[in-house]
Amino acid sequence: MKPFIDLKAQYVNIKEEILECINEILESSHYILGENVKNFEEEVKTYLGVKEAVGVASGTDALHLALRALNIGKGDEVITTPFTFFATIEAIVYVGAKPVFVDIEEETYNIDPYKIEEKITPNTKAIIAVHIFGCPANMEKINEIAKKYGLKVIEDAAQAFGAKIKDIKIGSLADIGCFSFYPSKNLGCFGDGGMIVTNSVDLAEKIRILRNHGSPGRYIHDTIGLNSRLDEIQAGILRVKMKYIDQYNELRRKKAAIYTNFLNDIVITPKEPLNAYHVYHLYSIRSKERDRIKEMLYNHGFPSVVYYPIPMHLQGALKFLGYKEGDFPITEAVSKEILSLPLYPELPEEEVFQISQIIMRCLQKNS
Ligand SMILES: *Cc1c(COP(=O)(O)O)cnc(C)c1O
Repeated sequence: MKPFIDLKAQYVNIKEEILECINEILESSHYILGENVKNFEEEVKTYLGVKEAVGVASGTDALHLALRALNIGKGDEVITTPFTFFATIEAIVYVGAKPVFVDIEEETYNIDPYKIEEKITPNTKAIIAVHIFGCPANMEKINEIAKKYGLKVIEDAAQAFGAKIKDIKIGSLADIGCFSFYPSKNLGCFGDGGMIVTNSVDLAEKIRILRNHGSPGRYIHDTIGLNSRLDEIQAGILRVKMKYIDQYNELRRKKAAIYTNFLNDIVITPKEPLNAYHVYHLYSIRSKERDRIKEMLYNHGFPSVVYYPIPMHLQGALKFLGYKEGDFPITEAVSKEILSLPLYPELPEEEVFQISQIIMRCLQKNS
């Protein structure tokens, strides 16, 4: 069986730089909140074009701390998408707020901004937009609604490092942007890591205190915080990989274009919104024959993965919210038909051809 993502293929290309950087950190014996985290935060600021960047322990913590910093909690409602990874919702529940779902767009699988207004109540405090699969959500419209109703906006950009709308980087388009550096993400470390970015100096200051036990200075605690720091080794690794991120995303786009070229007529292929730069964290096709395609690929030694088979509003842990099947028809249909194909920067083009051909043959036979 081929891997779904071959992380080793990336590692071997930068092995010397990585080992040298880890070795330096080990020799320095400075492992928490040192030069690497500080420099990585500076580099992310420059890359994304934001005023502030704060390294944290994971993408999940980034979302959690973002909500804390915005004073969102008990009695508040946060509007978001039911088609995301569970962490987006967990963060809302952690702070005691209530997730309120809005169905997604057929084209992008992102939250449909035109369905947001009908869900706004006097308790609504924020919108979390998720750039699913690396495809930019419609931030212009989302920000317009937020402005009209005085809501905060958080971008869950865990899958979208380097994505853009008109040359403006994803993550810089809302009050707070949240990133994950989980190993399989477009920019991934060798463990857990995350980052919060914002143009607000006040919010960044609050988050710096919250990520470190609510402590503005040694053994002074003004609030109950978290232990949620990005560690030096992960930051060092990310600084090495950051040099290649544009190249990695370009390679993803190139392979995505080959898939689309082959498959566009027989399945629903990913769409890139006007003026958007999609970074294909996942290349996901949609077909009524999803299960058959998956099986056929498997039989030929290629894995494929369903992201995500159960929408958030139908998850057991969220039963208390009272949603039921039928509440979000587009999300539910997509969950039944979506399939992510192998796609990573180093994926051999030969395999893109092979996978495409297996799918083409699979759909010819029974049509
Ligand atoms: C990966 C991911 C997260 C969580 O990030 P972790 O670093 O794994 O905690 C949150 N939201 C989305 C959309 C993700 O894909």
